[in-house]
Amino acid sequence: MKHNYLFDLDQTLLDFHASEHKALEIVLTAHGLHYTEDIYSAFKEYNKSLWLELEKGTISRKDLFTLRFTDVIKRCGGDPSLHDPLAINDEFIYTMSINGVLMEGALDLVRRIKTEIQGSRIFIISNGATINALGRIRSTGLDAYLDGVFISEDMGVTKPAPEFFDMVLEKTGISRESCIVIGDSLSSDMLGAKNAGMDSIWFMPKGDIEASMKAYDIDYCASSFDELFDILVSIP
Ligand SMILES: [Mg+2]
Repeated sequence: MKHNYLFDLDQTLLDFHASEHKALEIVLTAHGLHYTEDIYSAFKEYNKSLWLELEKGTISRKDLFTLRFTDVIKRCGGDPSLHDPLAINDEFIYTMSINGVLMEGALDLVRRIKTEIQGSRIFIISNGATINALGRIRSTGLDAYLDGVFISEDMGVTKPAPEFFDMVLEKTGISRESCIVIGDSLSSDMLGAKNAGMDSIWFMPKGDIEASMKAYDIDYCASSFDELFDILVSIP
């Protein structure tokens, strides 16, 4: 029976963007800066372009953190010379880590899995920063239902690499056949499951679903937590 559930974290059980939004508002307001929705949209867009620069190696991590908050301060009408962008960045990261936001119904889902599916185990498999992910998991109470958490920063490998999944199997002692991967991302979760030879459930599928299911060897799709639960209990 497939009763070892490997859950992606962001936009599957937790809402990363909602945490980011909340943290930005708290931190900017604390520094007397005027926060608006437009500021968040601009932050998200600029941040994304900076992460691409970082991946290309054209800027450092420190540059990224400095640049993104220098930009935000200016957008809020503040004077960057009167603020410390790096310190604000640190506060932002910390504030985000203690302000996890659940996807609506996520806590009910994990509670139902643990109480209604005998022998079920829930593991988190996430690409990202360890402190940020662990903090958000704890702050939402999700940790009470988890049997293990695997974060790429900690492991030194990233989904969709098969090594990521091999490491999970090695550390937990569970078999490949007993696992099912559940996530929203085609490029990390679904491709990862395919690479690792595990079954998969694509959560909140979008676009050309049929074509993607074929291309990524996806076994099931779920558009809500109720649908997902029904699939889990029906899997032999
Ligand atoms: Mg995700």
